[in-house]
Amino acid sequence: MTTDFLPEITGSFANPASENPTVAMVEAAYKHHNLHFRYLNCEVTSENLKNAVEGAKAMGWVGFNCSIPHKVDVIQYLDGLGESAKLIGAVNTIVKRDNKWIGENTDGKGFVKAMKEVIDTKGKKVTLFGAGGAARAVAVEMALAGAKEILIVNRSEERGKEVAELVNTNTNAKSSYVSWVDNYSIESDSDIVINATSIGLFPNVDDQLNINFDSILPEMVVADGIHNPPLTHFLKTAIAKGCKTVNGLQMLVNQGVIGVKYWTNVDVDAKVMHDELKNVLGI
Ligand code: NDP
Repeated sequence: MTTDFLPEITGSFANPASENPTVAMVEAAYKHHNLHFRYLNCEVTSENLKNAVEGAKAMGWVGFNCSIPHKVDVIQYLDGLGESAKLIGAVNTIVKRDNKWIGENTDGKGFVKAMKEVIDTKGKKVTLFGAGGAARAVAVEMALAGAKEILIVNRSEERGKEVAELVNTNTNAKSSYVSWVDNYSIESDSDIVINATSIGLFPNVDDQLNINFDSILPEMVVADGIHNPPLTHFLKTAIAKGCKTVNGLQMLVNQGVIGVKYWTNVDVDAKVMHDELKNVLGI
């Protein structure tokens, strides 16, 4: 018999929201671990963000995710930021701690967690394609996880230089911007190569990075932040060459595991979340 009909509430504010599978993944973990929690996927426009956050506070939510386009705008409604969220300048997970609403960024943390299952990140040279929100999070967390050098290869020079500067100013890693020339060749001493651009994201699944694919060497660990599809052209090429790989689904699951730990204090089973994602996405 249940005598407690009042679950803890968590959720997500994003626009659009309907294609985001996080709700299925998180609720599967709550169910598996018998956690009296719910996760509500909410479509919230930019003009309604303030009211949505105030609503969550008023209803006693314990935390929530923010996705596109709210990852930066939400900061003004919070009481503080975690260390890496402060550096990244964007948050995706909000957690209530000691009655204060704190913004964290688990995108890069989830990525590093998945990466560490494949390679020790300490002292490694990283080539990172992209300089948007995901790339900023990945660059900062890879640097905090001990990467020695991070090359930022990006189409727009201004954004690329900004990320390199961010890493150089705030971490012990050395970073530089590299111009993305046509048919770019990855430097052969790169240990880890990461696509953090949106090239290859559904529905443009046939789009390819403008790189020399012969420069991907079997000893490189190759990662892609795109979770839909989990096997991008970039990753398929790397797998064919014998590289170890990390895909965007692993990143999504691991950032979810970290977020749920913030809210529930429970280390949930990543496999349960991964299986549910594969189930709902039909992959
Ligand atoms: P942004 O829009 O902030 O950044 C997009 C990046 O892609 C920029 O660096 C942009 O370059 C680059 N880019 C886009 N199109 C091209 C192109 N045709 N040629 C060269 N560069 C291009 O997006 P996000 O950083 O938020 O997201 C990037 C990807 O990461 C998305 O696919 C997203 O799904 C994924 N992601 C995955 C997560 C996960 O958990 N698996 C979490 C968060 C994001 P420029 O600066 O020149 O415009």
